[in-house]
Amino acid sequence: MHPFIFAIVVITIIFLSPKTIFGQEKLDEDMIYQKRMELYKKAEAVSLIPWYYFAAIDQYERNVRQVRRDLPKSTGALGIYIKPEIWAGPLNKNAYDTNPFAISQFGGFGMDGNGDGVADPTDDEDVIFSMARFLQSYGIDHKHIKMALWDYYQRSKTVDLILGKVKIYKKYQTLKLDDHVFPLPLHANYSYRDTWGDARGWGGRRIHEGTDIFAGYGVPVRSTCYGIVELKGWNKYGGWRIGIRDINNTYHYFAHLNGFPPHLREGQIVEPGTIIGYVGSSGYGPPGTAGKFPPHLHYGMYKDNGYMEWSFDPYPHLKAWERAEWLKKKQGGSH
Ligand SMILES: [Zn+2]
Repeated sequence: MHPFIFAIVVITIIFLSPKTIFGQEKLDEDMIYQKRMELYKKAEAVSLIPWYYFAAIDQYERNVRQVRRDLPKSTGALGIYIKPEIWAGPLNKNAYDTNPFAISQFGGFGMDGNGDGVADPTDDEDVIFSMARFLQSYGIDHKHIKMALWDYYQRSKTVDLILGKVKIYKKYQTLKLDDHVFPLPLHANYSYRDTWGDARGWGGRRIHEGTDIFAGYGVPVRSTCYGIVELKGWNKYGGWRIGIRDINNTYHYFAHLNGFPPHLREGQIVEPGTIIGYVGSSGYGPPGTAGKFPPHLHYGMYKDNGYMEWSFDPYPHLKAWERAEWLKKKQGGSH
């Protein structure tokens, strides 16, 4: 081959492959969403409980599993994990029993959902069918499903997180809700750097749990994700602040605002770009205190793993969302 042609071929491959790989991932992602939706719809068909309850439980558990080392990684399309002793029945001497009749005799959770005669805790259809029957045994209206969730998880926070997702899935009727944006409009004048773990200049907790984005008073603050307003109001340190829970169990925290849009309330569903407040300098005193430091948005991210919540560094995410949004704008502008 002529060296020049060879070079062109090599350059073409280098430039094309990331796109091809990305395209493949996108396809796989679409297929897995489709597969999950089929499972939820099957569960809905057998139980008459709307699919988004199953989607919410599954999504909650998937995210818990991703951040927990004591739980095995998921091998199928579902994230729901049922412990062997629960699946087989607490009195069952064989914790790995897959005989549906024996399991039912021992009060186990496991059932045969796909009709192959085996109740297999690693089979997606068996798992979703068993969950459907469990919820159904309480009743198929919201109130009874909530009771079933409480009995199953024994943690009110978990129940709240799942019911939040139920609301979001019900509203959007899709599982693809992973879009994010940068919290401030990109055309605004702002600056930020990685301040994770820095000593706090303004008191409060010992280390800085978030990123400070400096901008002028009144710059709109936007939701970074699809989610639900979990908290809104005054806090001595955070000032006027708002917290949004997304479908990945992540809590997005926005503090030092100088106000909120008029109709925003707790429990409301927001999406990437929804205005949820304005940059200010509120905090460090009784309600209304402001001006003790330069105006900025304090942005924090917290993760729930099923029994506790901890903060992690939002800076890499902010950078990624900012970059992705610029790229999208550029591409949009070229058409
Ligand atoms: Zn801060």
